[in-house]
Amino acid sequence: MKDYSVIVIGAGPAGIFTVLEMYKHVSPRTKILIVDEGRSIDHRNCPARVNGVCVGCKPCNIMSGWSGAGAFSDGKLSLSEEVGGNLTDYLPVDKVRELIKYTDSVYLDFGAPELIHGLNDRKVDEIAYECSKHNIHLVRCPVRHMGTEYSFEVLRAMYEYLCKIEGFSFMENTHADPIIENGAVTGAELTFKNGEKKTVTADYVVAAPGRGGAQWLAKIAAENDLGTKNNEVDIGVRVEVPNSVMDPVTKHLYEAKMVYYSDTFESKVRTFCMNPGGIVSEEHYNAGFNTFKDSIAVVNGHSYADETMHTENTNFAMLVSTKFTEPFNQPIEYGRYIAQLGNMLTGGGVMVQRLGDLLLGRRTDYTRLKKSTTRPTLVTAVPGDLSFVLPHRHLTSIIEAIRAFDKIVPGLYSKNTLLYGIEVKFYSSKITVSDSFETKVKGLYAIGDGAGITRGLMQASVTGVVVARDICGK
Ligand SMILES: Cc1cc2nc3c(=O)[nH]c(=O)nc-3n(C[C@H](O)[C@H](O)[C@H](O)COP(=O)(O)OP(=O)(O)OC[C@H]3O[C@@H](n4cnc5c(N)ncnc54)[C@H](O)[C@@H]3O)c2cc1C
Repeated sequence: MKDYSVIVIGAGPAGIFTVLEMYKHVSPRTKILIVDEGRSIDHRNCPARVNGVCVGCKPCNIMSGWSGAGAFSDGKLSLSEEVGGNLTDYLPVDKVRELIKYTDSVYLDFGAPELIHGLNDRKVDEIAYECSKHNIHLVRCPVRHMGTEYSFEVLRAMYEYLCKIEGFSFMENTHADPIIENGAVTGAELTFKNGEKKTVTADYVVAAPGRGGAQWLAKIAAENDLGTKNNEVDIGVRVEVPNSVMDPVTKHLYEAKMVYYSDTFESKVRTFCMNPGGIVSEEHYNAGFNTFKDSIAVVNGHSYADETMHTENTNFAMLVSTKFTEPFNQPIEYGRYIAQLGNMLTGGGVMVQRLGDLLLGRRTDYTRLKKSTTRPTLVTAVPGDLSFVLPHRHLTSIIEAIRAFDKIVPGLYSKNTLLYGIEVKFYSSKITVSDSFETKVKGLYAIGDGAGITRGLMQASVTGVVVARDICGK
């Protein structure tokens, strides 16, 4: 008899929903283990979010632990199959819609707010109409916004619910590697914080390592010949402007997902992760389980649902998507390299530049930043010059897209618009999986952002539901 029925590697939304859905179908005595390199939810806190100074937690508390990258996320649940992943490459559209509806209902059961933004069709139609005049595509996507505080609480409620189930166990501060023998998974090797190791057996192993674990999963895929495809790499900046600039769209949509093909390169530039009244934040990728070495600092953003905690600014990512073709097959390394270049110039953190300085070909320094009427919410960001970091294609495309979007939200193309770099989204190599996300290794599943299948809370959670149903149907 095996130690566990299922071992889930990674306690982000994909892993959590695997376990939640499993227990809807199996006895509460069924032994399911979920492990994470990071800490349990109540022990997770990010010093940088409290006092503005990143102390280099190992691993990064924003990215790791119960709830994964979801814990301190903005908690926007995107309720359209068009946003947050590639699920429709694996499943029929109707099925994906049904799964999103179901998964959303589980979030509601655990306390997500009732309000959905972007359902006011007349206003959304008006914004889309305006966009169409300027070669901008508005992606329609209703959003349930949990906000950073409720996102944390909802995912904590899931933890508390699971802890009451007899067969459930969670191991924090534990790294896991699947054990594969003769084309089938047999369990996992666990490595604890003190370096000790333990082997545990299981019928199924679900790898849900998130973007932070993408390289780890890509290595396992290469060693076991699982088959991978290059995914896009999205590189760009986080834009910060006063709320007054973005209110005309965010008041109706919460998040305006706009897409523009740049004039010079026809590169796809899109707005992403919009946070009205939000805060720009710093996070670290691949700090490694027991080391801070080789980690990279990148920029992100979030906001609270509670309006009393809103800032005077709105932030959002502006990303240029590139899908590399043969012979190049290291998109993650490419993204890391550019982020590292930015880190090198700042002494290890995030860079900020005023758009006006960028257009004038000069560095933003502390004196120039002080003159900005847009006050940076990431106070640790180091003023610098993004033209030393971003490739010409990316920089030009971002500037052209900001100019285009200014027609929808006047004031965006302004000298005091702040650009933080680098924002990079690693969509990892897409691991080859079946339509139920099983790899060619029997019993080994790969899901969520780390498998290159998803890029957001909702779709990551859906992959967990699909896997659990598949396992329970066997
Ligand atoms: C600041 C911020 C804001 C965001 N805002 C939003 C938003 O508003 N809406 C949205 O849809 N998405 C948002 N996202 C993205 C969202 O959080 C992710 O898409 C989602 O969490 C992915 O879920 P996942 O389960 O695939 O991976 P993750 O949540 O990344 O979880 C993976 C977990 O696996 C663990 N792990 C990795 N490898 C191992 C290993 N070998 N052994 C043990 N544990 C391992 C990691 O420690 C991590 O905890 C945001 C992300 C950030 C960082």
